Amino acid sequence: MLKIPVTELFSSIQGEGPYVGARQIFLRLPKCNLNCPYCDTETIIPEKCRMESIPGSKDFRMLKNPIELNELIELLRSYDFSLHHSISITGGEPLLWADELQLLLPLIREYNLPVYLETNGTLPKQLDKILPFVDIISMDIKLPFGEKVFWNVHEDFLRKSLSKNVFLKIVVDEKAKLQDLQNARDLIANVDPSLLTILQPVTKINGIESPKPRQILDWQRLFLEKLKNVRVIPQTHVFMGQL
Ligand code: SF4
Repeated sequence: MLKIPVTELFSSIQGEGPYVGARQIFLRLPKCNLNCPYCDTETIIPEKCRMESIPGSKDFRMLKNPIELNELIELLRSYDFSLHHSISITGGEPLLWADELQLLLPLIREYNLPVYLETNGTLPKQLDKILPFVDIISMDIKLPFGEKVFWNVHEDFLRKSLSKNVFLKIVVDEKAKLQDLQNARDLIANVDPSLLTILQPVTKINGIESPKPRQILDWQRLFLEKLKNVRVIPQTHVFMGQL
């Protein structure tokens, strides 16, 4: 049986985007193909994965990584699916494990639990492999950092995602450049101006500061010039004290 490395499995409250407040099961997978300056997540493959022994208790037991898919399904079955809106497949970048997810997600869907994919939106070929098994896609639009620019790959990814319930999330800090924001807005507008777009002020980290209140208002107005549905939602799990 195929194995998959897992960072952690737990029950909590979604703290970002339009599903904020929804109770979800979180399956966090390790590794990422990016290295965003504001990343707040450990992305290495841990020797042991953290599994919440009683869902929602924040009491974890450690299991050896990687874990067999059958075993992971058995662990998931200890969760009360009726309590949860969906299962969030998150990371890291979960699409790095597309081959494994291609086998795991159909098993999860047998429990009628919607699959919510949180992705940085840069691996469109890997998305192809699991798209039929995904219900909701939270796709990042990454503003350029260092030498890295993602516009083309993001557009490809977004077009593939349109068959699903997809929304966009753009993390912004006080040094975001106007031209990059315009490019992000135009990319979305060219694909579908009615797509829900979330501007997420960065949570202060590594000397990276949140935008000033005035900046956020100006940027929302900039996006609304071409898009129909633009909301500003910060990371709420941070001040809720949730994982
Ligand atoms: S895409 Fe997400 S997990 Fe990957 S480096 Fe960026 S913030 Fe971290």
